[in-house]
Amino acid sequence: MNKRNRILGAFILISLAVGAAGLYAQIRDIDGDRGPGLCPGVHFRRTRPWIQATGEWRAEGSSLDRRIAAVVQEILPDLIAVRRDIHANPELSLQETRTAALVADRFKALGLEVRTEIGGHGVLGILRGGKPGPVVGLRGDMDALPITEETGLPFASKVRAVREGKEYGVMHACGHDIHTTVLLGVATVLSRLQKEIAGTVLFVAQPAEEYGRGGGAAEMIKEGVFKDIKPAAIFALHVDDTAPAGVIKYVPGFAMANVDSAAISVLSEGCHGANPNLCVDPIVVGSQIVVALQVMIARQLNVHNDTVVTVGSFHAGSANNIIPERADLRATIRTYGDDQRRLVREKIERTVANICASAGARYTLDYQIGTPATYNDPTLIGDAAAVAERILGQANVKQDLPDMGGEDFSYFAREAPSAMLFLGVEPKGATATVHSPYFVADEDGIGIGVRVMTAVLLDKLDRLRAKK
Ligand SMILES: [Zn+2]
Ligand SMILES: [Zn+2]
Repeated sequence: MNKRNRILGAFILISLAVGAAGLYAQIRDIDGDRGPGLCPGVHFRRTRPWIQATGEWRAEGSSLDRRIAAVVQEILPDLIAVRRDIHANPELSLQETRTAALVADRFKALGLEVRTEIGGHGVLGILRGGKPGPVVGLRGDMDALPITEETGLPFASKVRAVREGKEYGVMHACGHDIHTTVLLGVATVLSRLQKEIAGTVLFVAQPAEEYGRGGGAAEMIKEGVFKDIKPAAIFALHVDDTAPAGVIKYVPGFAMANVDSAAISVLSEGCHGANPNLCVDPIVVGSQIVVALQVMIARQLNVHNDTVVTVGSFHAGSANNIIPERADLRATIRTYGDDQRRLVREKIERTVANICASAGARYTLDYQIGTPATYNDPTLIGDAAAVAERILGQANVKQDLPDMGGEDFSYFAREAPSAMLFLGVEPKGATATVHSPYFVADEDGIGIGVRVMTAVLLDKLDRLRAKK
């Protein structure tokens, strides 16, 4: 009898899990290939196979765009060299001393006012134009990832570094070497145009984007990066491994998600595996929680409000005949907007509390609020996309779907209206994505990024002046 009950119980549990997994797979399918959110940084894999660079960009643009293009053409060999230098010498989050010094030195050589060590190794470069006017900003992030590079590039990283007592290979696998280079490129072009600029441009070189827990953007703001001079708009770009060089992508409104986490521990006294009636089985209770969270998404949330809960870690037990004293679950929770964020948290807390109550289990739940969702101001992103279209041709500027990855650029968005563009750098003839040890960004994206972001900043200064 006892045995039959156990078999029946196991059957019900497995059926529930398979059913929920199937349901979950269907839900994901409807959304298309959103791909893995690998860590707190931008980690997206948006497959849009129909996007092709057409080459129209070569002949487009205003006369100013063509002047910018000429300067970019001239400085491009230097930018490629500096990108390769940064790529060969990557630094982990919170350790970006060399990169920050390189950026600060270059800013100084361009005649910018420079502040360093803001919120860690953050650098602010201030370019004051020849005429008074509004203030706009551009942010580039500088840190690399704990990944051992396997690209075989001549300038591949061989760097190793220690973090929290553990040694890692270090690699620019998220394209932040490109971001830093574009930041330097735009500063170089605009410093050549300095006399003509009516306004001020802030260049924000940010550390620790990949760090998660109160990363570089929040720290720079906390340490007053905009205390003395605040931008009326701030821009950024991120490499996109699904679009070729020559393509820019953009997402109006929410572009990336709130990144929160939950650490759940189901607690028991533990007992013999042969006598499960004598203690709470935290593995079974933990399994119920995993399944219930997916069912909660499907049955308790409005389908139009995107939410992802992934229990990415589940640890319990030591032997087949011991019911362990605990099961430890770690989940990442992705949402858009403050309301949905609050709602999902309440439902997770309720689900965990009641499943544990029904089993008579004790538990702890540590819910951490992380990076807020990246929100692209619709007007700002629309204007930026229009500038990109002017330069690259309409066919090469694509509106994309939002992503459930995260980006701490969102902290800057709380200081000023903001917009982040995606820069095509899809590897030629390769498939490795960002955060892969094999990721090779197409350097042809660098010149495009500099041309577009330079023009976007100048366009915004014009628009802000016209508004006054
Ligand atoms: Zn990343
Ligand atoms: Zn990144």
